[in-house]
Amino acid sequence: MPRPTKPRWVEFIPDVTYFKPAGVPMSELEEVALGVDEAEAIRLKDYVGLEQEACAVRMNLAQSTFQRILTGARSKVAQALVEGKALRIEGGNYLVSPLTFECRDCKHEWANSGQSSGEPACPECGGTHLESFRKVPVGEMHGYSSDRPRGRRHGRHGRGQGRPN
Ligand SMILES: [Zn+2]
Repeated sequence: MPRPTKPRWVEFIPDVTYFKPAGVPMSELEEVALGVDEAEAIRLKDYVGLEQEACAVRMNLAQSTFQRILTGARSKVAQALVEGKALRIEGGNYLVSPLTFECRDCKHEWANSGQSSGEPACPECGGTHLESFRKVPVGEMHGYSSDRPRGRRHGRHGRGQGRPN
C-alpha cells in the first residue's frame, strides 16, 4: 500500500481542539485546520522549547521534514490570529507514541499518557531521576526497524541508529 509520507510520532493529543474568535458570527467564520502532527511540532519546538534536531527525533522525522511541518503549522496559527479565523486541530498523519519512563531509584517503569505537561515523577516512590525512552508505536511503520525492543537504552530516545528517510 503506497503512502505519501511515513507516520509521524506524536506524544500529545490536545484536549481542546477548537479555537473560535469571540464576536465573529458563525456565518462569517472561516476555519484553519491544523493537523495533530502540526500541533505536536509547535508543542515540541515552541512550547517545550526543544532544539529542532531533538524535535525531529521525537517525531521520527528528518530535520528537513520537521522544519517543513513546523513552518506550515506556524503559518496556519499566524493566519488564524491575524485574519481572525477559527482554528481546528484534527487529522494529520501520525501515530501516538507515549513516552515511557523508568525510575532510576526504584526501577519502576511506566508510560506517560502524553496528557501531562509538567515534569513527571515516579508514581511508586516519587523520585524524579527518570530515564525516558520511546517505545516504537503500534501501527504500520515504514522504513524503520522495530525489532530492537531491548535496544532502547542505547540512545536517549530509543533509537541509537537508523536515520529516518
Ligand atoms: Zn521510583
